Amino acid sequence: MNDRTRLIHAGRDRDPHTGASSIPIYQVSTFDQPDPEHLGAYDYARSDNPTREALEHTIAVLEGGARGLAFASGMAATSSALLLFQTGDHMVVGRDIYGGTYRVLTTLFKRWGLDVTFVDSTDPENVRRAIKPSTRGLFVESPANPLLQVTDLRAMAELAREHDLIAITDNTFMTPHLQRPLELGFDIVVHSATKFLGGHSDLIAGLAVTREEALGRRLKAVQNSFGAILGPQDAWLVLRGIKTLAVRLEEQQRAAGDIARWLQGRADVRRVFYPGLEGHAGREIHARQARGGGAVVSFELADGPAAVAFLKRVKLPLVAVSLGGVESILSYPVTMSHAAMPREERLARGITDGLVRLSVGLESSEDLIADMESALGPASRGA
Ligand SMILES: *Cc1c(COP(=O)(O)O)cnc(C)c1O
Repeated sequence: MNDRTRLIHAGRDRDPHTGASSIPIYQVSTFDQPDPEHLGAYDYARSDNPTREALEHTIAVLEGGARGLAFASGMAATSSALLLFQTGDHMVVGRDIYGGTYRVLTTLFKRWGLDVTFVDSTDPENVRRAIKPSTRGLFVESPANPLLQVTDLRAMAELAREHDLIAITDNTFMTPHLQRPLELGFDIVVHSATKFLGGHSDLIAGLAVTREEALGRRLKAVQNSFGAILGPQDAWLVLRGIKTLAVRLEEQQRAAGDIARWLQGRADVRRVFYPGLEGHAGREIHARQARGGGAVVSFELADGPAAVAFLKRVKLPLVAVSLGGVESILSYPVTMSHAAMPREERLARGITDGLVRLSVGLESSEDLIADMESALGPASRGA
């Protein structure tokens, strides 16, 4: 079945009780039990809520997994997955992961005794070398933020299988429409549904999907015990967003490619980072594991003042954290996602003061290019 059809019909496409065209928002905490000795399918809404369950079923189908779970945020999904490990366990984690994941690992989970080694996962050898007898998990992100570095997901899944590790990846940038890590051998996929899956910058939500039912049951036990669940209203909004995921993302991806090539042709843009772009490191690996470069493009201007001037002049995109909405969003990693990172460390990772990240929305790419062209200034036009 074509993905566009799957996105509409593969999950719960109608209410089983009434035939309603969307799953109702079950704004409830508890369910009456006609038989007090044998409780029904639903007893308490932390454990199960029909609206949340519809979303959990849908994301499991879309990722090709056994069990989907919806959480209060992307970080709640990631942190709940990390709670599958225990004190003393070691994990190998990609160096270039989402800042919030880095923070939770180096503060909360460190205090709690999870041993983590960060490595540059773009070379699988680095990951292999970091594995030790106590290693139980592997966590990577591809493409990574904000330089869109590519990690070979099949190689990671292979290493995880060899060493009996739980392999986890954050698939927020790609979504199941463009990349399905469970089919490449990963055990768990996590998402910030705040981004492309929700797609309208109007909610915070997280999802996790396990490849196998047994691991799904363990993660479900974490969800029910730890309790970082997604509410029914936001579950409904994510379900609605998912229906248009393919048309949004394909259009955004097409525009992102156009904009990346336009940026590459400008003399005042030093470097352009986009997995679909000729010359991008890891482009071939990315093409083997994903269907397209996605809708996030990063680029480097001359220096900090040039980036700040550009961000102040640009009119259409929001200048904000986050990505994946129908509106284009420009982020400045220096003061946003990577503000907490010491400058030397940041520069060593290639995140320079002139770096800007663009999440391409659904505006016309001609309008976006015209806006950015005037914000960059005519003096430096043309390569
Ligand atoms: C935003 C984001 C997260 C965190 O998600 P929240 O919904 O903000 O908690 C995790 N990973 C990636 C790649 C993200 O972009």
